[in-house]
Amino acid sequence: VSWFALLWFAAAAVADPGDDVPSRVGGRDSVPERGSLECEERDPCADVLPGASRFERPEGRPYAVGYNDAGARVGWVVLSNDVVDVKGYSGKPLSTLVGLTESGAISGARVVHHGEPILLVGIPEGALADFVDQYVGVPATAQVVVGESDEAAVAVHSVSGATVTVLAQNQTLLGAARALGADVGVITVDVARPGAFVQDEPWSWDRMVREEALGHLVVEQAEMGGSGDRPFLDLWFGLADAPQVGVPLLGEHVWRRAKEALQPGEHLFVAFNAGTTSYKGSGFVRGGIFDRFRLEQGLRVQTFHDHDYTNLGAARIEGAPQFTEAGLFVTRDASLDPGEPYRLIFLASQYDTSAGAFHRDFRSFEVEHRTPDSVYQVEGWSAAAELVFSTWKAKPLKLVAVAGWLSMIAGLFVGRRWLTGNLARLKRIHVGVMAGSFVLLGLVLQVQPSITQLLTILGSVVGEWRWSLFLSDPFLFVSWIFIASVLFVWGRGVFCGWACPYGAMSELSFKLGRKLGLPEIELPLAIHRRARLVRYGILLTLVATFLVDAQTGEIAAEIEPFKSTFYVPPWTRHPLLFGWWIALFASSFVTWRPFCQYLCPLGASLAIPSYFRVSGPRRRDFCTNCKICTRTCEPRAIGPTGIINGADCLNCMECEANYWDHDVCPPLIKEKRTRAKGAAAVKGSA
Ligand code: SF4
Ligand code: SF4
Repeated sequence: VSWFALLWFAAAAVADPGDDVPSRVGGRDSVPERGSLECEERDPCADVLPGASRFERPEGRPYAVGYNDAGARVGWVVLSNDVVDVKGYSGKPLSTLVGLTESGAISGARVVHHGEPILLVGIPEGALADFVDQYVGVPATAQVVVGESDEAAVAVHSVSGATVTVLAQNQTLLGAARALGADVGVITVDVARPGAFVQDEPWSWDRMVREEALGHLVVEQAEMGGSGDRPFLDLWFGLADAPQVGVPLLGEHVWRRAKEALQPGEHLFVAFNAGTTSYKGSGFVRGGIFDRFRLEQGLRVQTFHDHDYTNLGAARIEGAPQFTEAGLFVTRDASLDPGEPYRLIFLASQYDTSAGAFHRDFRSFEVEHRTPDSVYQVEGWSAAAELVFSTWKAKPLKLVAVAGWLSMIAGLFVGRRWLTGNLARLKRIHVGVMAGSFVLLGLVLQVQPSITQLLTILGSVVGEWRWSLFLSDPFLFVSWIFIASVLFVWGRGVFCGWACPYGAMSELSFKLGRKLGLPEIELPLAIHRRARLVRYGILLTLVATFLVDAQTGEIAAEIEPFKSTFYVPPWTRHPLLFGWWIALFASSFVTWRPFCQYLCPLGASLAIPSYFRVSGPRRRDFCTNCKICTRTCEPRAIGPTGIINGADCLNCMECEANYWDHDVCPPLIKEKRTRAKGAAAVKGSA
């Protein structure tokens, strides 16, 4: 059943015609590779550079120059992946085509590929296209603020429910425009953010390797069609300005002299090779240029000349491999920002004897390296940290409201003796809190945790864990901290029963149905027990689908009606999704929480750890015989023996209120009667 349901929804969501402007976002099937800008083929360059009818790619540069019909240059176009490295909520870049005019203003932008889950299945893609359109005419050097702004900055409107995505898009767009503008010379930007090399005692080779102070590129013989034990290239490289790196590699005297000769913006770069080939290349012999390797950082390219170079011979460093060549280079013209990652690209060549003595086989190898914080410390925030910071400060009131509301719910459970001291009061508070969660968290603040978030975190754990992903959505962070904290203490019911906006809406609808005198439909117990296992099937199916293909998994998660309830008006969605939403909503009036009980994959994922909660509702031995709580427990979580199933209990706490009630709980009634009799006897004898 669950497989069928998921496939049905995946098909429905893929065919979702809710996006009224599909042509304004997309074009590439996958994340574009570096250097793959194709103005005449897949990329609509003319869209982002109006007036240009012909494009040319200068040799070795990732951007295209646009010309009008008269042959005059009108600007440039670049694909963001080639110049900036900003990841969206999905962990993938928002690949954007950016156009720049001769005056350094953004002439247009278009997202050609993204993997943002909220846009895949929730918010219409046209919203992102509209967001990007706001940058047309904005100077690349302008300070742009998403949301409210003071007079000094350009303000652009955010996309509700997709804050992380639009902030990443903002960074992508401005970063690409600035890098392009600086490279073609129409704007001036600081190429390097302020920072400083850390001063430390000289490190051993092992420490340098451990701290990742050096990058490492290995090309095996087999990769070049050869054989042998020693690699074709075994290159260690990195910046040597810091004494802990420079002194042991160069010797104190050479390092000091080289440091003193550096001009502002220049850095020491070292390359040590233990492979069989040389990194010098034929260009070094002919024109004094090292044509075998270069460094690239965004649009900036650093190639080395003989006047940038000092031969260190076969340097010997204790604990290091036996190097065959070693060189000290100087990066010129502020071409390298030590605080940002850069790539070393090595062009390997070998004579191909099968194709004639003079035929050479060229292959390019590259590796990325970032100088670690223990060697170079950037002042202020890194790009990822900036993104995190800007999302946290974007909506402080909303954040305080979410944290405050969830803390209040946790507080009720901390003071649960008072909460459960009176059943009528408990019921009133419960209804009030559910109404608040539905209206405040759901309708107003749009903070509805979803299985897609859990799957995204799972993908991050299976792949590369990124704290920034977890931290970049403050509401996600706060909600999941709340869920994780209450889950193992009191069980999932604190979230599902009190804080989940959809669950609250569903239960309130059921209560309204009772007030309206609608019939109540309840599955027979035996069927109910089997039917509630469906949610685990859906959860497993989603996890498997997500691990095979994240995007399909995210689309299949449309089985959750959350987006149609809180993010996108349900009637604007595909008729099947609208129908599904209506069916669940309508059945909530006659059945207690139908989606929560049988289908919710998020609830299922939280149910499993709830078995191990440390503090469920209080029970006493007599509960085994008594059926009072069993009869009134809506999720039917109390078994025939009186034991509560932690996975199904939604912490309404009514059974615990009965536990304290001397007019409801039989042992307490008995005790009360005994006491009353005793008191009467004492009174009579007196
Ligand atoms: S089962 Fe799902 S929809 Fe229901 S309350 Fe829990 S998370 Fe919300
Ligand atoms: S009545 Fe049922 S749902 Fe409510 S706290 Fe007790 S066992 Fe849990």
